[in-house]
Amino acid sequence: MILRELHCDVNILLHVLPDENRRQRLGRGMTDFRKALIAKPGRKVKFSQWDPDDTLGFHKGAKCEAKLADNLAKLDSLQNLLYAEKKHALLIVLQAMDAGGKDGTIRHVMSGVNPQGCSVTSFKTPTADELSHDFLWRIHKAVPAAGYLGIFNRSHYEDVLVVRVHELVPKSVWSARYDQINEFEKELTQNRVTILKFFLHISKDEQKKRFLERIDDVDKRWKISASDFGERKFWAEYVEAYEEALTRCSTNRAPWYIIPANKKWIRNLAVSSILVETLEDLKMKYPKPSFDVQDLKWK
Ligand code: AMP
Ligand code: MG
Repeated sequence: MILRELHCDVNILLHVLPDENRRQRLGRGMTDFRKALIAKPGRKVKFSQWDPDDTLGFHKGAKCEAKLADNLAKLDSLQNLLYAEKKHALLIVLQAMDAGGKDGTIRHVMSGVNPQGCSVTSFKTPTADELSHDFLWRIHKAVPAAGYLGIFNRSHYEDVLVVRVHELVPKSVWSARYDQINEFEKELTQNRVTILKFFLHISKDEQKKRFLERIDDVDKRWKISASDFGERKFWAEYVEAYEEALTRCSTNRAPWYIIPANKKWIRNLAVSSILVETLEDLKMKYPKPSFDVQDLKWK
């Protein structure tokens, strides 16, 4: 009995400590953001173990700004390569609580990317037409083609989040969707779509702070909607729904990353670093010209 309890405690330590250490070490030379922030496939996600104020050992300032600038420059050339090679597509899924920073992440991280090779799709409350199809119908149509980078601002995950929290369909329907999502994403990755899913993790206090800023700042006031304040009452239900979605749908093929997002500078650094690391791993190459350039004759 004691042994079993001890074994259990050791397991908890083994599960929690290495990640903690790894996260703290990142700023001191470690560079693999993916390892530090992945929701490990098969392991239960508990947001209480993820600090939204985490800075991964980095400090705000010139060094981080330089790293972000370097990432954005690399992203620009990697996207050019993606476009030229036309072999892979990259799908970025962004999810967060209201005011979690989805729009800001897109604006900052994609600032250096050529708009010609990029698409952003914002998924809103489904139309009557969309609702008359299966929930993945509108999603599949927006998946980027080979050579393109596509961003989902909200996604098919809303169908196990807002839909679950507000019981928009019976439990028997939404609960079957986790497996359906995994099957769908499997099919995409088998067809050379690389999928990256980011959950921008903010605290309830940070959300309040951002809502208050939106009220005070005339440039941000347009973003407030009465429904945002209403949704805040369901914070705990959303946490539960997110934890289950990330637990069941973070796979080796299409992993979820939990981005500490209370501080925008580390959020941008983490997301851009994961994008660069993932694109570099594709080992893309510019296609060879279809003719021998030596044979070119100038008149
Ligand atoms: P926003 O991102 O602030 O423009 O708001 C979009 C709204 O659409 C949010 O309130 C989402 O919860 C809602 N939404 C997105 N997808 C779905 C869905 N599949 N079912 C119901 N509501 C959705
Ligand atoms: Mg909103």
